[in-house]
Amino acid sequence: MSERTDDLVLVINSGSSSIKYQLLDPESGAVTAAGVVDRIGEDNAGIEHHADGETTERRSAVADHTAGLRLIFDTFAATGHDLTRSGIRAVGHRVVHGGEVFYQPTLIDDDVVAAISDLSSLAPLHNPANVAGIESARELLPDVPQVAVFDTAFFHGLPDAAKTYAIDAKVAAAHGIRKYGFHGTSHEYVSGQVAELLGRDPAQLNQIVFHLGNGASASAIRGGHPTDTTMGLTPLEGLVMGTRSGDLDPGIIAHLVRSAHFDIDQVDKLLNRDSGIKGLSGVNDFRELQRLIDNGDTAAKLAYDVYIHRLRRYLGAYLIDLGGVDAITFTAGVGENSPQVRADALAGLSRFGIEVDPTANTAKGRTARRISPPDAEVAVLVVPTNEELAIARAAHQVAESA
Ligand code: ADP
Repeated sequence: MSERTDDLVLVINSGSSSIKYQLLDPESGAVTAAGVVDRIGEDNAGIEHHADGETTERRSAVADHTAGLRLIFDTFAATGHDLTRSGIRAVGHRVVHGGEVFYQPTLIDDDVVAAISDLSSLAPLHNPANVAGIESARELLPDVPQVAVFDTAFFHGLPDAAKTYAIDAKVAAAHGIRKYGFHGTSHEYVSGQVAELLGRDPAQLNQIVFHLGNGASASAIRGGHPTDTTMGLTPLEGLVMGTRSGDLDPGIIAHLVRSAHFDIDQVDKLLNRDSGIKGLSGVNDFRELQRLIDNGDTAAKLAYDVYIHRLRRYLGAYLIDLGGVDAITFTAGVGENSPQVRADALAGLSRFGIEVDPTANTAKGRTARRISPPDAEVAVLVVPTNEELAIARAAHQVAESA
């Protein structure tokens, strides 16, 4: 690893039981080191650290996020770089929920930490983990600017008609109930890449972006600003996901409570962890789903069909919302790697100018590319997302102007 780290940004993405990290150059995007601490709180926790083409793996109990971050710093030191001494330009923290309070990358101080913590009721699994990661990083690197980058920020300015739920307005106002949207860093980064790739001014483009990973969301973007998105108050609304249901009749919850005697934690678990592709088929990974379908598994086929049906429902809604589109883009694990999903999501839409070229769609590639015929009215694209780079750039910019 190079000895100079003072232009690099450490990006930290703390989940409920894991911390993902990358040390990277915000300008070139070159990644110096990356890894993950997983199973925090369990006995078989550990770290997988990649640097200089080598992987370091250690397994031992990691009590909490503070211990997890220490393990990351120790591993950096053991592989030749003491981050606490050599200095880095900034730390960028992915924070899931910014509520109504945060809508741009924000330099972290005690008040910002307290405000992120106050938003925990909106994201009980995520914001406390984000705060733990921030507090530990501030302890370990007290002199390095720390910047929070919010998953909800890009969607802050959603039109009122798109962000308002049709419930008692007083209840909604009292409890911060509105559509916030998530995966914003990815939707913003990818839509920016699309404009670059097409050589067009983002202000002139109508776009639909499908971020299809374990979590999945779609957004409609006019002139660089989102007009709608599928995720809502929480990351549960919208598309069918790996383990999350996405949209359903809210009456189902009352029915489960009354008739099946579910308590609220059981409802939460059902909808967030035991639903979606996994709930319908038993597996949540798309590669396994494909294998089951190939073996004639009818439940897996139904799960796939429900997934595609939901994608197309939003595609139609956003086409109308935008009054036509210039580009439709697929990103994240499934979106970047499944030609089948891309082909099925857009099948039979040539009358709307939407076509997928089968050869371009199935060609292997890791870079941003067009998969529609060159003369098609709508550009269909695959663009790898890079949330870490987007966070690193935002953190660097805030640190420079601090
Ligand atoms: P996360 O939301 O956890 O960041 P990712 O964007 O990494 O998720 O996407 C993970 C999902 O991508 C996996 O669950 C898997 O279903 C899907 N995936 C990864 N590689 C492939 C592939 N080659 N073909 C189809 N699906 C894939």
